[in-house]
Amino acid sequence: MAIPETPQEKIQHLSKKLQQSIQSRKQLEDDYLRDSQRYSNFVNDLCLALSGVDSELDSLLHKLRGHLQQNASAAVLEPIMQRLSDAISQHTIRLQTQLKQTNESIRQALTSIKPSDNDSRAQLQRVASEFEQPTMTVSHYLPLVNQLLAVSYRQHAAQTETQVVHYQSQLLDLLSEVEFSGSAADILQQVKVALQKPQTSDTLLAISLKVMRLVFSNINDERKAAQHFLQQLNTSLESVQNVLGITITRSADFADQRIHLNQKLQTGVSEIKACVSSACELQDLKESVGLQLQTLSEALNQHLKLHEEERQTFSNNTQVMEQKLKETESQVAHYKKELAKQKFRSLQDNLTKLPNRSAFEERLNLEFQRWQQNETELTVAIIDVDHFKGINDNFGHIAGDKTLQVIAGTLSKSLKEMAFVCRYGGEEFAIIFCSDEQSTYQHIENTRDKVANIPFKFKSEDIRITISAGIAKFKYNEDTPMAVFERADKALYNAKNSGRNRVMTAK
Ligand code: GH3
Ligand code: MG
Ligand code: MG
Repeated sequence: MAIPETPQEKIQHLSKKLQQSIQSRKQLEDDYLRDSQRYSNFVNDLCLALSGVDSELDSLLHKLRGHLQQNASAAVLEPIMQRLSDAISQHTIRLQTQLKQTNESIRQALTSIKPSDNDSRAQLQRVASEFEQPTMTVSHYLPLVNQLLAVSYRQHAAQTETQVVHYQSQLLDLLSEVEFSGSAADILQQVKVALQKPQTSDTLLAISLKVMRLVFSNINDERKAAQHFLQQLNTSLESVQNVLGITITRSADFADQRIHLNQKLQTGVSEIKACVSSACELQDLKESVGLQLQTLSEALNQHLKLHEEERQTFSNNTQVMEQKLKETESQVAHYKKELAKQKFRSLQDNLTKLPNRSAFEERLNLEFQRWQQNETELTVAIIDVDHFKGINDNFGHIAGDKTLQVIAGTLSKSLKEMAFVCRYGGEEFAIIFCSDEQSTYQHIENTRDKVANIPFKFKSEDIRITISAGIAKFKYNEDTPMAVFERADKALYNAKNSGRNRVMTAK
């Protein structure tokens, strides 16, 4: 470019430079504005991201944002940025410490989770090994904690399910011991059918409430019936008491009248005596005695009439009382019969008509006492139907119920003569033998064989149903009914594990 020579050229040159300088200044200002806008946005985003993490960071970022919006100078921004940087360092140190503590807590929590299925166990192991990594950051934690929660939730759900199944079968066992009549019996039957299907904890709770309502309303009915009976008894006794009261009052009346008549008779007799001793003429005597005798005869007639009236009243009242007492007697007899029926019902299983679990416990305690005194043999057997759930699932609950009745009948027929057979609950039967282990084994083995040969037929399908049994005997000195029952149950468990359809004796 040519060097300006003339003043005019110089001015032109300078003016051009000035223009360029103004333009580049403008460019600089624009850049500055754009950058500061970008920083301001960045700090805004940072503020939002870090908001709530630390109150000191919050307040410093807020301040910085304000200054940036007002285009504050570097001298103003510098100290705030310095404080911000210190606060971030301290926050990072605190975060690391917290991370360490969290890691430790999670490791401890991991040891307390015991998953029941293989999938959950494998997943838990994967999560646990991730927690062993030394370079854990918060962002690493979040998905792991998520997985951990999922495993723990699954475990909790599995535990709840096991508990529900347990409570469900306990409730079903208990219900086999109650019996209602009328509409309550229908509801009870529906409840039993529902309890034989899988339930959730919520539906089981609803069913339990239904059962409690049934039981309470039954107790209420019983109470009302008892009240009604007592009222009837009271009314009968009251009327007997009334009749008795009338009889007593009438007797007192009769006694008064008798005294009066006796006095009249005595006076008459005395007057005749006086007439006789004072009479001089027979004719006078005749006349006066005749009159006296007339009065005496009237008094005697009255006496007889009174006596008859008294006898009649007494006989009537006695009849009324007898009638009332007879009525009361028949009411009491009816009530006694009802009570006896109920006592029998409470010891009998409704479905199979065998004695129930309460009856078994009562009988076992009795035999146990005898065994302690006499040192004879005493053995317990528990029988469980094999794969019974399959019958319900494949052919319905009515078929299941029928199966239980047939098996109960077979057990009863085969063992009744030598043992006490009961339905312990569900598809389990318990039997008490006052004989040794060997003969018990033989009887149960024969019965097992009989059951295995019953030709069941459901939906035109021929089905064989088998049973397994465990036997345990009372050993001298040390045993209790509960310990023996547990040994028999263990033997039954072994029979199941050894392939079912077999009888095993406890060690
Ligand atoms: P295992 O050979 O191991 O004994 O198998 P299982 O299927 O017999 O045993 P599980 O305990 O799994 O099932 C027993 C079933 O018996 C579950 C329950 O619904 C059913 N049950 C219990 N009481 C009754 C009842 O009164 N009537 C009917 N139909 N079923 C019942
Ligand atoms: Mg069972
Ligand atoms: Mg079974």
